[in-house]
Amino acid sequence: MRKTLVAANWKMHGTKAFAEQLLAELNSGLESDDCSAEVVICPPFPYLGVVGAAAENAEQVALGAQNLSEQPSGAFTGEVSAEMLLDCGARYVIVGHSERRSLYGESSELVAAKFAAAKGAGLTPILCVGESLQEREAGNTLKVIAEQIQAVVDLDLGNTWQNAVIAYEPVWAIGTGKTATPEQAQEVHQFIRQQLGEAGPATQILYGGSVKAANAAELFAREDIDGALVGGASLQADEFIKICRAAD
Ligand code: 13P
Repeated sequence: MRKTLVAANWKMHGTKAFAEQLLAELNSGLESDDCSAEVVICPPFPYLGVVGAAAENAEQVALGAQNLSEQPSGAFTGEVSAEMLLDCGARYVIVGHSERRSLYGESSELVAAKFAAAKGAGLTPILCVGESLQEREAGNTLKVIAEQIQAVVDLDLGNTWQNAVIAYEPVWAIGTGKTATPEQAQEVHQFIRQQLGEAGPATQILYGGSVKAANAAELFAREDIDGALVGGASLQADEFIKICRAAD
């Protein structure tokens, strides 16, 4: 039985005061609601400490980061290693978000190296995959997803998908208000699960792209949708708590 996981990707938003306030609201909201979902908060790097400290008091809230270096340490100005994230209390890290792929030129090979670095340090990577609108319209959705996953499989890590999460985020649904229909998402999630082989049944596969309180429950109701990776709606405590509660 897979637990529902709801992860917040704050992207480059927030302040220290915002983080403290949001976590206080989240802690009391989730506690009083007796929420059954696992919750991960991925703030910008400078706020890992603030969020981590607040998350320590909340049993089901874990800390995550939005990116990491594929390198273990060294002269890599501006980069952050897996060990550093772990040292700051993170348990999860997002890799291969479409904004990293498209705006910062991260190839599937680099994303796979980051996935390996995270796993090697004992972090749980949240591997993002997803097609652009053009790729969907050309009928290439499943091919694109398969290639993104294959880059990780090719590394032959052994138990690749143990302690790993996948997030299906169609690029055309991110920040656009256009959510994939539950049918569209389920189709891709089922396909992804098949790609994982023996690890398929146990691996959490999240949906991301304009998830909000109003559409979370119908997405979570689908057999292969095990939670959500939430952008914009994770910046509003009320809305995010409702999404977490949609898991019940
Ligand atoms: P939105 O929820 O704002 O569409 O963002 C989704 C996302 O990119 C989460 O990683």
